[in-house]
Amino acid sequence: MVLKSRWQIDIPQVSLPTFIFESPTAELPTTPHFISAKEPDKHFLSIADYRLYAQRFASGLLRSGLQQGDRVLLFSGNTLFFPSVVQGVIMAGGVFTGANPTYVARELAYQLKDSGARYLICAEGSLDTGIAAAKEAGLTADQVFVFDDGVATFEGRKVEKKSDLGTLRHWTALLDTEENGRRYAWPDLRTEEELDQVIALNYSSGTTGVAKGVMITHKNYVSNCMQQIFIAEQHPEYEARKKTQRGLCFLPMYHAMAQAVFTVNYAVVRSPTYIMPKFDFLEMLQYIQKYRITDLTLVPPVVVAMAKHPATKKFDLSSVLNVGSGAAPLGREACEQLEALWPDGRVNVKQGWGMTEVTCAATTFSPAIRSDSFSVGELLPNVEAKIVLDDEGKVEAPQGERGEVWIRAPNRMKGYWKKPEATKETITPDGWLRTGDVAYVDEHQHFFIVDRKKELIKVKGLQVAPAELEALLLDHPDVQDAAVIGVTVDGEEYPRAYIVPQSQDKATPQAANGIKSWLAERVSKAKRLEGGVHFIDAIPKNPSGKILRKELREKAARENNKS
Ligand code: AMP
Repeated sequence: MVLKSRWQIDIPQVSLPTFIFESPTAELPTTPHFISAKEPDKHFLSIADYRLYAQRFASGLLRSGLQQGDRVLLFSGNTLFFPSVVQGVIMAGGVFTGANPTYVARELAYQLKDSGARYLICAEGSLDTGIAAAKEAGLTADQVFVFDDGVATFEGRKVEKKSDLGTLRHWTALLDTEENGRRYAWPDLRTEEELDQVIALNYSSGTTGVAKGVMITHKNYVSNCMQQIFIAEQHPEYEARKKTQRGLCFLPMYHAMAQAVFTVNYAVVRSPTYIMPKFDFLEMLQYIQKYRITDLTLVPPVVVAMAKHPATKKFDLSSVLNVGSGAAPLGREACEQLEALWPDGRVNVKQGWGMTEVTCAATTFSPAIRSDSFSVGELLPNVEAKIVLDDEGKVEAPQGERGEVWIRAPNRMKGYWKKPEATKETITPDGWLRTGDVAYVDEHQHFFIVDRKKELIKVKGLQVAPAELEALLLDHPDVQDAAVIGVTVDGEEYPRAYIVPQSQDKATPQAANGIKSWLAERVSKAKRLEGGVHFIDAIPKNPSGKILRKELREKAARENNKS
């Protein structure tokens, strides 16, 4: 049986910039909207500024020769200008792609090459990585621009960087004048075909293989924002709450979750957002207290840290009304511990579930219902799902039984960038997305995510693709074969490598440590083998050579039980 959301809503037929800003000339609020959490009085942008910088950037990009569909890659932590860069690229008819700011040069070079980025805009503090990656990807100095770090440094400080690639200009060299920006009218798109244009490549490994560019369209963003706002409106006091809502963004804006929530949803409802360049636990608590933050968008490790860390109790968190968590599994126990911080029972931690391939979210908990389980809520408006037991999706699980979740929705990606085979494996001809997540649904149509069928490992909410680590490990001289799976250590998921050594005398604890350190030098932090390096005689594989990860997971579970 196909499960359908109990809500069906109309999705406006407009482009994302029109959805956020109404039109190129509409009167917009000039009060601070994106506010630097560190220097709130000095650094902020209003919604009107958000649009104007995006217009100036769009106009400048077009003057620089940007063509329809050209990709622009931003490699930076969160800054006030991050959202304007995203919208500027989109307004110019380009495609935005954001990279994880903790990437090493090899990882960034992969995304530059895979997306075929025309420009790289690189945070000042990450220029060494950016330049090395740009060289590897064959970019020239005129294609690389210096971006600001953390707190925005407005146009007064135009850093130029001399490098062996040549002199790199500051990103504001791409900004057109204020006057031209105001005059820049982005295309007024209306037809299905126009709104199906790709505007962002958000990288995800999906169910198998290495990271791929998830093609997100105008329609995807507008739908997902409408769906999420509709759910927020189910709160009995929504109108009153909306006026006082204040958010804090420390989740990375390159990722689907913060990008959709903070650069789009909060902007549409005009709720001020305090921006942190990156996550810092104590700073987060200080800012919640200082700015009387009302809504927290969290990932499970932050929920757990807030619930357990003694420092949490030292701060006044009385402003908080809503707490949501997503991006990885979270048990009910941690939610209850967190809720206990507000003894009046006012805060109910609610989970949502989604993936880059559905823009951001596909299920969530209605604010009108109290969550008392680890459920991720019900389907967002206009979303259909089925829980299937076979690869063809013909056998559906009876209610209450687990199976793979398939999703059909207006917020489902268009496909994977230049990977028709991967797209075909993930989206069926009749439009279903194979999510690779295993769930059951209860009698209230609430979803419970219980397992993952896909290879993906999530470390503190960040994606780790085993295929990438396996390919790297095979380059190690002492490794004959390798497989990587996720294991749980102290409630957190980490990658573990099973290695077939070149010779038995290489199967020592020292060699295992050596492989771990060797890999750590080649990957960003989340991908390190904190789940350990274990030697094995042979990697279990099926006759066509596919790694039987389930067997390795069972082996890991047996090893864990023994220790
Ligand atoms: P990403 O594309 O990085 O957002 O990762 C998506 C994946 O994260 C999903 O397919 C799930 O495996 C996992 N995930 C996201 N939200 C949840 C959740 N609330 N509970 C369990 N797993 C989740």
